[in-house]
Amino acid sequence: MQFRLILLLLFLLAECSSNKEAATRSRPPNIVIILADDLGYGDLGTYGHPTIRTPHLDGMAAEGMKFMQFYTGASVCTPSRSALLTGRLPVRSGMADNAIRVIFPPSEGGLPSSEITIAEALKKEGYATAAIGKWHLGHREEHLPTSQGFDQYFGIPYSNDMSPSMTPQGRAREYPPLPLMRDAETIEEEPDQRQITRRYTEEAVRFIEENRDGPFFLYVPHTFPHIPLFASEAFEGNSPRGLYGDVVEELDWSVGQILKTLRDYDLAETTLVVFTSDNGPWLTEHLEGGSAGLLRNGKGTTWEGGMRVPAIAWWPGVIAAGETTDALATTMDLFTTALSLAGAELPNDRVIDGINLSSVFVDATANVRDVVHYYRGTRLWAFRKGPWKMHYVTQSAYVGDSPVEQTLPALFHLDHDPSERFEVSAEYPDVLVDLQRAAEAHVATLKPGPSQLKIPAWTE
Ligand code: MG
Repeated sequence: MQFRLILLLLFLLAECSSNKEAATRSRPPNIVIILADDLGYGDLGTYGHPTIRTPHLDGMAAEGMKFMQFYTGASVCTPSRSALLTGRLPVRSGMADNAIRVIFPPSEGGLPSSEITIAEALKKEGYATAAIGKWHLGHREEHLPTSQGFDQYFGIPYSNDMSPSMTPQGRAREYPPLPLMRDAETIEEEPDQRQITRRYTEEAVRFIEENRDGPFFLYVPHTFPHIPLFASEAFEGNSPRGLYGDVVEELDWSVGQILKTLRDYDLAETTLVVFTSDNGPWLTEHLEGGSAGLLRNGKGTTWEGGMRVPAIAWWPGVIAAGETTDALATTMDLFTTALSLAGAELPNDRVIDGINLSSVFVDATANVRDVVHYYRGTRLWAFRKGPWKMHYVTQSAYVGDSPVEQTLPALFHLDHDPSERFEVSAEYPDVLVDLQRAAEAHVATLKPGPSQLKIPAWTE
């Protein structure tokens, strides 16, 4: 552990040297964040799925660190992505409103330019930056990746079901053809979605090749396994899990391609790669939705299955191989970690909710975070402190969740009961009071930003 800590410090402190290796190390690390869409806690081989085969992600975990308690900033796409890229609870930036909603094609809104993204902060430190995949933080020009610190963008700017040919809710006429964009231009309408994962992967590999002299920040928010599901010919029909498995197995291949490219260019030891998901599985899609494993419920909820996701960090030489950590962590922590590794100053004119995970990378037993906030829209629905989780509000039953009458607030011990099955507030009244006080202190100091989503009423 000591040796890896020194290596990490070298990255942060190293001075110029005539030695080639030391010169390489004096550069801040490249950072790659790969984000699956609606992938559940139980959907990868390394997290226990019995029939989805994910050898590349399993290998990434075997060579790196697997987080068992890693959370998103929200349980749906738009606010979750804003949390990851800005290090801030979506309620602060106005990327959540009073319902649980995402940006739809008619929306004029998006991530305000006053927010600072990882890309903006790293670009100032000399990083090349690219976003390749699903953006979902606003698709008018001022909200696109190219206006938010990314040198380049390639992808479908919102969800792949927001298309006249795909959307099942009878509002197809409201949607324009699904765009595939390069930078701020639409280059195709209604692209063949079977080819999307492959095309994102080719773009990501090319970006790494072109910027191998680095440093670079590459953000790959995949379109899948959000529905509708599509896999390319090479994967369709292969997985014992069916089409959902085909799609996840192609994402796994994509991760393998990115890691292979980093190895081929001798960048493995100078690049931090993090793989995670934007929210839990979409259980109401039945066979086309994923699995939260033993966690309760899924996407759209503040049960663990909605916001606890798989997360693997890989950085050979710094992160020891085969580590598993119970440290609490969130996607917002990736903002603070990335800025710290790049030597960028954290913004001091706003509240940042992220915490630097560097000490966890070199010591899996380190604890940097004690609390998790579970917002749904602009309201705090649940709060975790240590192993304890309190719900102020819970959702009605979704698929796989029996409709249990719950007296609120409800208390669960997540180490004893990760599935949130046994409510224990009567046994631990002091714990409940402690959590209520801590949660209320947080809410009392929080200033919600005005909603930036600007969603037409018809989407209600
Ligand atoms: Mg999602």
